[in-house]
Amino acid sequence: MPRPKFFITTAIDYPNSRPHIGTAFEKLGADVQARYRRMHGYEVFLLMGNDENTVKVAKRAAELGQDTKAYCDDMARQFREIWNALDISYDVFVQTSEERHAHCCRTFIQKVFDNGYIRKDFYEGWYCDGCESFKTEKELIEGKCPLHPNMTAVRRKEPSYFFEQSKFQDWLLKFHEEHPDFVQPESRRNEILEYIKDGLRDVNITRVGETWGIRVPWDQEFTIWVWFDALLTYMTGIGYASDDAQFQKWWPADIHFIGKDITRFHCALWPAMLHAAGLTPPKMVFGHGFVYKKTEEGVLERFSKSLGNVVDPMDVVTKFSAEAFRYFFMRECPFPGDGEFSWQRFADVYNADLANKLGNTYSRVVTLVGKNFGGTLEGTASWVPETIDANVDLPTLIREISEHVEACQYSQALQKLVLQCLTPANQYLDTHAPWKLVKTDLAAAKKVLFNVVQPLRVAAILLKPFIPRSAEAIYRSFNFATPWEEVRYDTAATGELAGDLKVLAKLEDGKPTPMFPQIKSG
Ligand SMILES: [Zn+2]
Repeated sequence: MPRPKFFITTAIDYPNSRPHIGTAFEKLGADVQARYRRMHGYEVFLLMGNDENTVKVAKRAAELGQDTKAYCDDMARQFREIWNALDISYDVFVQTSEERHAHCCRTFIQKVFDNGYIRKDFYEGWYCDGCESFKTEKELIEGKCPLHPNMTAVRRKEPSYFFEQSKFQDWLLKFHEEHPDFVQPESRRNEILEYIKDGLRDVNITRVGETWGIRVPWDQEFTIWVWFDALLTYMTGIGYASDDAQFQKWWPADIHFIGKDITRFHCALWPAMLHAAGLTPPKMVFGHGFVYKKTEEGVLERFSKSLGNVVDPMDVVTKFSAEAFRYFFMRECPFPGDGEFSWQRFADVYNADLANKLGNTYSRVVTLVGKNFGGTLEGTASWVPETIDANVDLPTLIREISEHVEACQYSQALQKLVLQCLTPANQYLDTHAPWKLVKTDLAAAKKVLFNVVQPLRVAAILLKPFIPRSAEAIYRSFNFATPWEEVRYDTAATGELAGDLKVLAKLEDGKPTPMFPQIKSG
């Protein structure tokens, strides 16, 4: 039986500066979904990339005295270095300055032109020389661009090609009606429908006189402008116009993960563009929330270079670990909504969940079994673990967590896991204190240790998409019968042992390698 396919994309980023933690947040959410789907039998393709054909990027390279392409390549290397450090399991990374992308865009735009949905006209609007771009009335403050208050925006009129988005209004409304799950989270759906009903305008899709960018194939004076270039990244990476079999295999995308601020382009313009080219729209667009920085005074601000509050993901990874980074953001920031970051909160969540509950429970069990039972709990091969919290029904808990992950409600999934699996396990250990029992009643201690391995096993499986390395280390520390490569959520409730329970982890001075050492305050 062929495996079901799952094609995921993330938004592509401007490489005019290094990624900050808000950028990383999106890639993490996509990666968790990709890893979850892979665990459950899907053949997954995760596409990422950088958005390089913009005036901003060319300007930044010029400021640094670098060749634009060389600058883009170096930034792409830096981006990938961060994604690799965070264990983002992408399958392809597209740079829009690559020739294969230019070829994809030329083929696509030509198709839409041939189908009669692109017309030549004039574009007229307010132009900021500082930004080298047109501004809408709304963006200007007293006739000036807020980024360049010492320049007055000027009226400018130039020839341009337009995509006739207005022709797709009725089709789009019908499309959204027939695909009620297309916009996620659902709360953003109404806004999109209102926007479409309000009347769609034709979209200016070219620029004249630019040297950096992809030329319009039938009119070389023009370059392709922004969306008709950027959105097509999703198709370049799976072979549109270069590898038809590959493209047919993966298209349409199952989920486009994007920031909520660009939902409109993905939910109106993009399906219309695809329809105009005779292609099927994606199955779902997921507009995630933003991460805000919480200052020491408790004020929330957006991460921005100009505020000087950018946190480089590499700093967190180097100082703690990729796993700690992944866990914090998925646990603390609701993916569909907004979240906050502060170093204090980071330390609190890390210590409470990872160091105290997960790390400590794991280390206690492994150490005690190693030290007092020679690493093997003899005679336990056929034992069935006792439930350590009578209020928790394990199959129900797993099913609920699974539903949260599938709906990208990652923080709800992890909170539930902590509350109903890790906290009870930790409390169970504290209550039964096997470190004392081993001195008085070895048989009772054996039972307690055996029982607490069950929640550790379940947690390792459920945490696999979130903190893959630590989850694997925990799981492989014991002789569970199911190979790590084959664990799944839906079979996590029961797990057999390959014989008597054994600790396989390497111990040093009787202890496992500390997984999440406490962050000391101050
Ligand atoms: Zn400006």
